[in-house]
Amino acid sequence: MNVPEPSMTTLKHIELTCPICHHCFDSQAVLSTNSFGGKRTDFHERAAGAQPLPYLIHLCSRCGYAGSERDFGDEADVSPMLKEHVWDELAPRLSEGALSGSEKYEFAAKVALWQGAEPRRVADLLLRAAWCCVDEGDVEAERYFRRQSAWMFERSLEAYDGVERDERAVLTYLVGELWRRIGDVDIAAEWFDRVSDEVLDPKAQEWLIAAANQQRNCPREWFG
Ligand SMILES: [Zn+2]
Repeated sequence: MNVPEPSMTTLKHIELTCPICHHCFDSQAVLSTNSFGGKRTDFHERAAGAQPLPYLIHLCSRCGYAGSERDFGDEADVSPMLKEHVWDELAPRLSEGALSGSEKYEFAAKVALWQGAEPRRVADLLLRAAWCCVDEGDVEAERYFRRQSAWMFERSLEAYDGVERDERAVLTYLVGELWRRIGDVDIAAEWFDRVSDEVLDPKAQEWLIAAANQQRNCPREWFG
């Protein structure tokens, strides 16, 4: 009888061309992944085997441009201003040696900002940088990226159409959870208190109101 092996994160090689400096390079991308072991209360999922996050962002080792596979495709949004920023601010940091997953996300977040991406997208990249820091065991950098991410999510919630209406409640909860994990429980409580006002469908989002109450009063690190 064949016992199925637990599926793990499987990687594949891909070839990319940098849209900034035209350097061709090999990178590793995620072919498949299997989340297991639960989800942290900031939605950070654990995967079996290698964590897939660092492999979802690719980085050109010549100039420092970073992004998803799509950002290396034909439709990459490359302006002269972006090129200048990459060469001035990212390339010099490549001499520090191989970059960690969190640094790759940090670079990708900068690229997204310079491309004029929505705060929502930049916030996501910064959140992923924080998640990588958890796996890297870098508490100080984790807190830094959580704060940057919280500010960006706040900006997207403040903008008139920065966030889809049905996403507002979950992102409001997430901002609360980010501040809680940063260590600022007062700001966290303010955000958790706003969650119920942002809920559109109280029945479907009952879990979210319960999660906000729980994280405000008796916080847990993992969803049960
Ligand atoms: Zn490049």
